Amino acid sequence: MKEGEKTLLRSLPGVGPRRERALEEAGISSLENLLLDMPIGYQDRRRIARVSQARPGEEAFFRLRLEALKTRRLRSRRRSVTEASFSDESGSIAVCWFNMAYMGDSLRKGETYDLYGKVRLVESPSGSRLEMAHPEIDIAGDPEGGRILPVYRRIAGLGSRLLRNLHARALDLYSAEEPLPRALLEEEGMLDRGAALRRCHSPPRTECINSLAERRTEGFRRLIFEELLGAQVLMAESREARRELPGVAIPVTGEDRRAVSDLLPFALTGAQESALNEVCADLAEGRPMYRLLQGDVGSGKTAVAMLALLMAAREGVQGAFMAPTEILARQQAEVLRPLARARGLQIAFLASSLSVADRRSALKEIASGRVQIAVGTHSLFQRDVVFARLGLVVIDEQHRFGVSQRASLLAKGKHPNVLVMSATPIPRSLALTVYGDLDLSVLDEFPHGARRVRTVVRDDSSREAMEAFLRREMDGGKQIIVVYPWVEAGDSDEQASAEKGYDRLRQGPFRSYRTALLHGRLDAGEKEITFDRLVGGDIQLLVATSLVEVGIDLPDATVMVVERAEQFGLSQLHQFRGRVGRRRERGLFILMKGPRCGPEAEKRLDLLVRTEDGFRIAEEDLRMRGPGDAGGVRQWGRGIGLFAHPIRDFDILMRARHWASRLAAGEVPMSRVERRALDAWKKGLAREFGSLHGIG
Ligand code: ADP
Ligand code: MG
Repeated sequence: MKEGEKTLLRSLPGVGPRRERALEEAGISSLENLLLDMPIGYQDRRRIARVSQARPGEEAFFRLRLEALKTRRLRSRRRSVTEASFSDESGSIAVCWFNMAYMGDSLRKGETYDLYGKVRLVESPSGSRLEMAHPEIDIAGDPEGGRILPVYRRIAGLGSRLLRNLHARALDLYSAEEPLPRALLEEEGMLDRGAALRRCHSPPRTECINSLAERRTEGFRRLIFEELLGAQVLMAESREARRELPGVAIPVTGEDRRAVSDLLPFALTGAQESALNEVCADLAEGRPMYRLLQGDVGSGKTAVAMLALLMAAREGVQGAFMAPTEILARQQAEVLRPLARARGLQIAFLASSLSVADRRSALKEIASGRVQIAVGTHSLFQRDVVFARLGLVVIDEQHRFGVSQRASLLAKGKHPNVLVMSATPIPRSLALTVYGDLDLSVLDEFPHGARRVRTVVRDDSSREAMEAFLRREMDGGKQIIVVYPWVEAGDSDEQASAEKGYDRLRQGPFRSYRTALLHGRLDAGEKEITFDRLVGGDIQLLVATSLVEVGIDLPDATVMVVERAEQFGLSQLHQFRGRVGRRRERGLFILMKGPRCGPEAEKRLDLLVRTEDGFRIAEEDLRMRGPGDAGGVRQWGRGIGLFAHPIRDFDILMRARHWASRLAAGEVPMSRVERRALDAWKKGLAREFGSLHGIG
């Protein structure tokens, strides 16, 4: 972007100080920003529709005669509704505008107008009629007719027509500098940046409207490529930069590795062995490890991390294990403690529920180095936590922590080794987008062979039978978990509320069983007591909210019921399911759908019945719901103004990776001018995004 383009915003027609401020508040401060603010949709005005063919629920473009018009004041004097009747030879349609009384003055009966809007079918006692509310309207034959028009997101203080005009003018004024070398564009057969922007903001008549809506046109593909290439280039560079950092070398002998492995009551799976190999190789190398350990719930990630901590601690460095909830952290500490003791190592536990005295003494031990491994929650990265020589940081369920939180924990050591773990199976494409600068180890094997959980979908009609079944299971010594979407229900939907559901269950069908309630709003002490009783087998039926999602290990639970299952995401349900399939015994996962569960939601639930492949499920989730917050892709999209989609754009992503590595290796021929443009682009990216994961 050239200097001075900001003031050019003001030179756009109709933009004075007020509108300039409105644009700035929407994050648009230059012509370039304005052009990177992509249309959120398109209006197809190429064909004039006939009223008789109008389909309710769809948008259409009409050329109609105004037959009748009147404006009524509503009871509150400031409100009004303007009602009109329009027609073509095939029929008539009612149109209304609220609080736009001036419409009444500017429209003339008998004139012909172009209208664009969504058609509705309105039923009334006198029959049904077609209606449009707030259509866009122009004098017939307006130059905007006959084209595909972009629709932009709403910006307070700027009308949709004005926004469209601003974009069109900006296209004329802005001289897009091409950041990518010719050689790349030619080999990929790709539009240059200026042409791509034009294709998106002002599509030619011949563009396919569906491709536009799905952002599959050449224009979008070029801009998405640029976005993804930017991410890949930054990741490649931050990887390179880390390679240069002095890290903490932790040489682990094969003998010691066997010694720690022998502490476990089981043999590692092949996948765990190879992940551990990779971790050991990283640790020995003397530059900071930065590895993502990925694997489905129950694949044994935690076990790998613990071995790494136990090995590292022997070599004279401290380790930290951070988990997202206190229950989880406590459970890990309990598992780790005896193993550590066997190696003569000390463990400290840190969480917000500790008393002041306990906390103080834990901090002292960590700072002095008497403790080799600190296990805890968010408490670990608070300012007063000081490590003597932090050399290995493990972050469990890493996506539950923010970038800055991860960064402040890492800052407590000097380029410590980092192992982050994720139980959310992210599809490979998303991992490459979000974690492209991490090394990846995958646990694609389960300790007891393929997990075997039977999944069924049921509704209220089989509730009694199910409850009878649950009683039989508990009589046979099994533990049951019932999950609800919410702690308390907003409306009267009792089946959605853990509190209401719990009351019903313990007073009704499970009166004579030992039950308990666990959710995030209970205080830490209460949670701990319940949790201990649960693990000790004292509780037969646990009612919980999504708390169980985060990795607590309940070896004896083999049946889980999820109420109002359609309220959860598929990946989340898959995580729940991971809780009941951990032992040789076959688990049962019962999805109770609510009465308002539609056919779409039912289809989604059905996928869980059909597959146990977490990656497929996550992919499907992404396809249907968009990436959401899955690991921060959205941050990328927001920054660049586009929105690459990890599934839809997988092919583009692979091209971007290919070119990022060719660029990094200096394999792309370019002129001096091209190199300068590319460098300026990269610098801009780095400024905008800084370090991707708060590391390095
Ligand atoms: P994750 O963190 O991937 O969800 P965990 O490490 O918590 O999985 O392991 C799940 C359960 O399986 C734990 O009870 C753990 O002790 C057990 N486990 C882990 N690895 C093995 C193995 N190789 N053989 C048998 N059991 C294992
Ligand atoms: Mg885990």
